[in-house]
Amino acid sequence: MSPDNLPHRLQASAERFVTIRRDIHAHPELGQATLDTSALVIRLLEEWGYQVHTGVGGHGVVGVLRRGQGGKTLGLRADMDALPIEEKNGLPWASRHAGLMHACGHDGHTATLLAAAEQLALHSDFNGTLNLIFQPDEEGLTGARSMMEDGLFRRFPCDAVYAFHNMPGFPVGYAIIKSGGVMASSERVCITLKGRGGHGAMPERTLDPIPALGSIIGALQTVVSRNVSASDAVVVSIGKVQAGTATNIIPETAMLELSVRTLDPQIRQQVEQRIRSIVQGQAASFGVSADIDYQLLAPVLVNTPAETRQMFEAAHRALGADNVMGQVSFKAMGSEDFAWMLQEVPGCYFGLGNGTGEFNGCSVHNDHYDFNDELIPLGAACWVELVQAYLR
Ligand SMILES: [Zn+2]
Ligand SMILES: [Zn+2]
Repeated sequence: MSPDNLPHRLQASAERFVTIRRDIHAHPELGQATLDTSALVIRLLEEWGYQVHTGVGGHGVVGVLRRGQGGKTLGLRADMDALPIEEKNGLPWASRHAGLMHACGHDGHTATLLAAAEQLALHSDFNGTLNLIFQPDEEGLTGARSMMEDGLFRRFPCDAVYAFHNMPGFPVGYAIIKSGGVMASSERVCITLKGRGGHGAMPERTLDPIPALGSIIGALQTVVSRNVSASDAVVVSIGKVQAGTATNIIPETAMLELSVRTLDPQIRQQVEQRIRSIVQGQAASFGVSADIDYQLLAPVLVNTPAETRQMFEAAHRALGADNVMGQVSFKAMGSEDFAWMLQEVPGCYFGLGNGTGEFNGCSVHNDHYDFNDELIPLGAACWVELVQAYLR
């Protein structure tokens, strides 16, 4: 198929996929519980002749399509989950599930991959194995891992894996594609200080964890300001502090929770070492013990150079050279669980503009957000171009 008539063909089917997108939007599902969305994906993939594997790590779905004798394998991933937000935009297709909303556009990511799936199955030619991966719970950062722990890449090997996210504030159909670290690692650090409680009037008979807590809060500010270069992006935020029950009681324990974000795997390690040694050193100086529970929710998302170049070229063909940006700063301190997939398989995660202005430029995770339906044929064209070039 020539690149010229590809967007044309996708435009012809666009209305159907807009209806599908709005149907998913009206019926949002949270976290791992993407039962009905998965059922819709399964039904459509089966209709188009995909070999469909259900229940991969919960409600994850993999649609496999083999063509020709080629040995190459390619994975394309879409997320399906919504958010616990009450929708306020008054659209006819607004959420019918109280307190839940597709406020991150995962309804659109799913509909766009479905539009590409139909095009690839019914109207396109390629040579190799295509694995379409539909995952639950991106927002909770568990969906990718639960599919991988269920053998995703062992059962459906992929030479490369790709995903995109819509980006409000950029013109619709603009692609932002960059190699290297583009989304931050996310860690939750829970620190519990343990001393010896007692009467507030007799502090000498206690080991008070509260001064230690105060000192740790101050000292942790130096991780970003003194331990990493000013040009490296690092966030250490203390989001939760808890200690004590009454003014005349010195508590036994005190705790704090941090959110830590970095954009470079090596710096992530350095920051972890600094936090551990500051907490242990400060606690020891006050004679209290410190227990540190360090949980990696998502690693740094790192796009590999060769696979990023292939995405760049496919987007050039699908969207036109003027609409693909490679140099613009695409770095965010937000996290994305596709990073786990990129730790195992090379690939690229890229952005597609959702539009500008008050409506389509509305931020994700806002109660007035909506995925821009114009993006469906444009995103699908990027997927089809990539598959046809990668599985030649
Ligand atoms: Zn989100
Ligand atoms: Zn999202």
